[in-house]
Amino acid sequence: MTQRFADQAIIITGAGSGLGQAVAERLASDGANLVLVDMNPEGLEETKELVEQANSEIKAELVTADVTKEDDVKKYVDATISAFGKIDGFFNNAGIEGKQNLTEDFGLDEFSKVIAVNLNGVFLGMQYVLKQMHKQGHGAVVNTASVGGIRGVGNQSGYAASKHGVVGLTRNSAREYGELGVRINAIAPGAIMTAMVENSLKQLDPDNPEEAGKQFVSANPMKRFGKPEEVAGLVSFLLSEDAGFINGTVIPVDGGQHAMY
Ligand code: NAD
Repeated sequence: MTQRFADQAIIITGAGSGLGQAVAERLASDGANLVLVDMNPEGLEETKELVEQANSEIKAELVTADVTKEDDVKKYVDATISAFGKIDGFFNNAGIEGKQNLTEDFGLDEFSKVIAVNLNGVFLGMQYVLKQMHKQGHGAVVNTASVGGIRGVGNQSGYAASKHGVVGLTRNSAREYGELGVRINAIAPGAIMTAMVENSLKQLDPDNPEEAGKQFVSANPMKRFGKPEEVAGLVSFLLSEDAGFINGTVIPVDGGQHAMY
């Protein structure tokens, strides 16, 4: 059977850990050539090994870049064009949680830091990738929002503002690019077990993060954390032609958490 992404080139940001890493493995096994972007070069090397184990036929380029810096964003887009001549898909995913705090104590520095990565980084990625997709007349983008981008979670002013912003950017740009053959969607993961959630549980209860985890999932209809590969399945679908008429939407992948409040 032909692989879903045979001869396609897909960029993944935040590819050195968690969801980006799981999506890299999944897209490689679906036949995609990859450009893996992260500010952490060790994480990128680890992902490259996993990708090569998943599929030794595909090519994977590594680009160490900070998504908040416009020159770095231009660099990963240029690297993709020079390696593969096109960009078929873009998983615009790098993000940070920031410190948890009441709004009155959140602080402008922390707020700006989270916005810079989660919102400016996603915008800059779209700016440069969409220029190329517009030229080509095809492409698919998946932005990583969050359940915190469609609901109020609390203690996360920067995260909530940035992820609601990602949803807004997704809807706005989907209107602009639909007729140009480019689809733009977002995913809204609930709590998926990655380094980010481990840190979050440590913030909630530094002495007993495991107990914090149990309490956290007790409010979820499926009573468990999601797995990165369950997010990867959704991203693979949204980037593929199977999702050919899905545009401008935000899909929760959260075990039903968004239906609870
Ligand atoms: P993670 O911490 O495991 O991975 C994030 C990766 O992004 C890391 O490799 C990190 O080095 C990279 N990164 C951070 N800042 C960067 C920057 N400025 N430039 C380049 N790379 C940078 O976290 P994760 O759980 O895989 O999160 C991935 C995305 O999913 C984030 O946008 C996060 O907000 C979102 N998300 C995660 C969850 C969850 O439960 N894990 C839920 C909802 C949304």
